Amino acid sequence: MNCSGNNEAICLLDIKKYYKKNKITTNVLKGINLSINQGEMICIMGVSGSGKSTLLNIIAGLLPATSGEYYYDHNKLNINNYHMMEIFRHDKVGVILQKFALIEDLSVYENIALPLKYQKIPSKKIRQKVHSIMKELDLDQKEDYYPDELSGGQQQRVSIARALIKQPELVIADEPTGSLDEENTQKIMAIFQKLNQQGITIIIATHDTNIASLCHRTLFLKNGLIEEKGGYRS
Ligand code: ADP
Ligand code: MG
Repeated sequence: MNCSGNNEAICLLDIKKYYKKNKITTNVLKGINLSINQGEMICIMGVSGSGKSTLLNIIAGLLPATSGEYYYDHNKLNINNYHMMEIFRHDKVGVILQKFALIEDLSVYENIALPLKYQKIPSKKIRQKVHSIMKELDLDQKEDYYPDELSGGQQQRVSIARALIKQPELVIADEPTGSLDEENTQKIMAIFQKLNQQGITIIIATHDTNIASLCHRTLFLKNGLIEEKGGYRS
């Protein structure tokens, strides 16, 4: 495999990741080669412990790979440079984690506004943006609530709003519907599909085959490698 596709947003070459803990080494990713086009919606499946979160965190720039190459928009990222990866993440990526990762002592409004605080945006503009995304995600009555005063579905929508507020090119969602009921799952998938139609690249780790059926491609992680099932669905 090489990284030369015209429309390629992400290209991973021989990405390996191991963790060392108490002198035991776990080889989680054993040489991932993966090319994802701009505007694709990709699902990643695999049993618990197969490395889905590890792979997503590497792509999001939250975790350095042990070795391998990562190209984003045809540029090689310096995966071992924490500062550069942080800039990449702030600029390009919206991350939605399984456990919402909301900040408990910040209100809904403050949680959603947080990514904009890293940018030099006037507070009036921030207010407009936050209110607009809260409306879109059905959170407009909840501005002053704190995370523990919200249902699971509402917390997840706040974490989605926080990921989307800076209009990322790439959305990474780690089991975003893992703790949601059917109705909230459908709402969230509708949001992802709408974003995807706007051209945003989306990568979702999931155990839910219904969600996988909405993705263009599904990748299976097994024994540290990717198996791809099914052809491209557009
Ligand atoms: P999944 O998301 O598919 O459940 P993970 O990527 O979370 O899988 O974990 C893959 C493997 O890596 C598991 O065996 C897990 O115990 C191990 N692992 C994950 N994070 C760490 C860490 N920080 N230190 C040591 N081992 C880890
Ligand atoms: Mg996981």
